[in-house]
Amino acid sequence: MMDAIFLDRDGVLNEEIGYASDPKDLRLITGAPAAIRVFNERSIPVVVVSNQSGIARGYHTETDTKRFNAALSKALQKEGAYVDGWYYCPHHPDGKGEYAKVCDCRKPMPGLLRRAADEMSLDLSRSVVIGDKASDIAAGIAVGCQTVLVLTGHGANEWAVWREDFQPSHVAPDLARATEWLLAKWRRICRPIGS
Ligand SMILES: [Mg+2]
Ligand SMILES: [Zn+2]
Repeated sequence: MMDAIFLDRDGVLNEEIGYASDPKDLRLITGAPAAIRVFNERSIPVVVVSNQSGIARGYHTETDTKRFNAALSKALQKEGAYVDGWYYCPHHPDGKGEYAKVCDCRKPMPGLLRRAADEMSLDLSRSVVIGDKASDIAAGIAVGCQTVLVLTGHGANEWAVWREDFQPSHVAPDLARATEWLLAKWRRICRPIGS
């Protein structure tokens, strides 16, 4: 069984619109709540790990990000889906003020995954990262996770441009299909002998 599922936010759970920060711009990607429910029902922690450099760039505040995450959480809960942990990186090397720095938590660096794993006691080597960018996949590979690229958000373009340069464990049209793939794989592994 999987220890945890790490999900990128924009382009995986909600439609990618570029630096989303206003709850009124929130649009869930079709099938995302049902996919999260699949993990909830199996007691597999679901953790959102997101680059939010819009904070460092001065496009929106950290409070905006928290408000957007709260709205997303509420929209998912309305569909019976629950996220166990929310993590984001507010930094960017070319940002402003306190957020302007080269950090270890902006994907493709795996700092957010490591922090979440520490705080929530999760085994990264038995976890899965699902994202729509090469940087999501690289962060997952760096800490030994399985990785699934979804083609929603930036995914289709990233896969067209970078397919030679990164190797996700799997490529799926969207989170719903990524989840189906993981479930099928899990069933194969866990099928009792003789059945
Ligand atoms: Mg994304
Ligand atoms: Zn950071």
